[in-house]
Amino acid sequence: MAATKYIFVTGGVTSSLGKGIISSSLAKLLQARGYSVTIQKLDPYINVDPGTLNPYEHGECYVTDDGAETDLDLGHYERFLGVPTSQSNNVTTGRIYQSVINKERKGDYLGKTVQVIPHITDEIKRRILLLGKKHSYDFVITEIGGTVGDIESLPYIETVRQLRWELGEKNSLVIHLTLVPYLAASGELKTKPTQHSVKNLLENGVQPDILILRTERTLNKDIRKKVALFCNVDLPSVIESIDVTTIYEVPLLMQKEKLDETALKKLNLPISNPPKLTPWKNFVDKLKNPSKDVSIALVGKYVELVDSYKSIIESLTHAGALNSAKIVLHCIHSETINEGNVDKILSGHTGIIVAPGFGDRGIEGKILAVKYARENKIPYLGICLGMQCAVIEYARNILGLKDAHSTEMTRTTNNPVIDLMEEQKGVTEKGGTMRLGAYPCDVKKSSLVFKAYGEEHIRERHRHRYEFNNEYLKEFESAGFLASGVNPDSKLVEIMEMKNHPWFVGVQFHPEYRSSVLKPHPLFVSFVEAALLKKESN
Ligand code: GLN
Repeated sequence: MAATKYIFVTGGVTSSLGKGIISSSLAKLLQARGYSVTIQKLDPYINVDPGTLNPYEHGECYVTDDGAETDLDLGHYERFLGVPTSQSNNVTTGRIYQSVINKERKGDYLGKTVQVIPHITDEIKRRILLLGKKHSYDFVITEIGGTVGDIESLPYIETVRQLRWELGEKNSLVIHLTLVPYLAASGELKTKPTQHSVKNLLENGVQPDILILRTERTLNKDIRKKVALFCNVDLPSVIESIDVTTIYEVPLLMQKEKLDETALKKLNLPISNPPKLTPWKNFVDKLKNPSKDVSIALVGKYVELVDSYKSIIESLTHAGALNSAKIVLHCIHSETINEGNVDKILSGHTGIIVAPGFGDRGIEGKILAVKYARENKIPYLGICLGMQCAVIEYARNILGLKDAHSTEMTRTTNNPVIDLMEEQKGVTEKGGTMRLGAYPCDVKKSSLVFKAYGEEHIRERHRHRYEFNNEYLKEFESAGFLASGVNPDSKLVEIMEMKNHPWFVGVQFHPEYRSSVLKPHPLFVSFVEAALLKKESN
């Protein structure tokens, strides 16, 4: 295919309609037709990236191979497409303004007044087009965060207007996702919010080409016709997106609604063979028809909001489906765990995960969860802080270093088994300064994790400042721990596993960022297998 085609996805009526999933689903369908596709998220907030945001604010912070701290939608993009994203796939208003202001200070606009239009919109445009050019993708799908009508979305909508004009109708497309609410009292589906939302776009000079309507009930032909008539689109461009039990069904649903065909037609591209979706369908089939189940406890402190642990939850879903097992997940707030109730809270689970995190709130509950998993021989996966908790627990209860701790939690311990990394010691700024992105790790052949990976050299993504203190390595290894994964350059310990335990692994990295539908992460697969075995042996 010659020139890159640009597809813009906007949202109306309310937030959280699932623009990320719709974008990923369309991308999947195009990819399954043999096209190369990437997805980009433009976020209208002023933080330069979401790395400094509390997960309660914005859900999980997703980390890419190149070390960008990004919006969680990039996780969906990678899980659906199985193709890595990078910093260029997530741009915030803060980042746009930062580069424009930096240019202004350098004198790049000397003599000119720097304005939202054209300078901010030009910078947005540059970042959209660059992504297509850099990798010569067939399609770049750009998801505009926020809701049409928000003040902060305006420069993005204006950029879409300009690009539609500059690229032309056959090279670009606007998809607008809205909600058709059902009013129980009158027993009706209402299209008025959609009409208003499209009017809003029109006021800003953008006519959507395709409308996707989120709904809890089927839209009949009359409703579709009404929307088409009032919103200036043809009937096939009114697409229903009905609620489903799993996000992974959405591509199949969108295929039924012919979203891909409609988009291709509008972009003047041939509708050749149907998309090759057999492996995807097999996955959805297995996911929806499990033959067994397994109960997993996820111990963390942001458990009220499932979005905080999005990638972990999705990785478990992938691994569960591969094992034909339904994952019955219980998110447990570590602050609620104490010595008196830990047995009661955790019994019944045959797999325990201690989640990543920052700060000392709820830390002792996490350490108790580790102890429970170790003593009861329950498969344990500690991720980042979860690995650090495993080290602290072992130091305190097996090595007898009673005050062992991480220096993140206390400065005064005599046994800093987890300590600030050397390179972090002079760091004062908070944004983008952790150890971020993919690093190599050598796996010991004799280890459990080697069995899981089947590889000696792996690369995994990181996001942390603290690390296992190598001064304690000998002591740990002679007492039953194995540093089974080590960074070949820095010698930092990246994986710790327990020898006399059926499955106990702590990883300093985040395997959850690398699991995808068609390639579930080996550690999660192996962990779920172990949890199933534990269940059988009970
Ligand atoms: N707070 C720990 C550190 O910075 C762990 C980080 C994490 O779990 N992502 O090292």
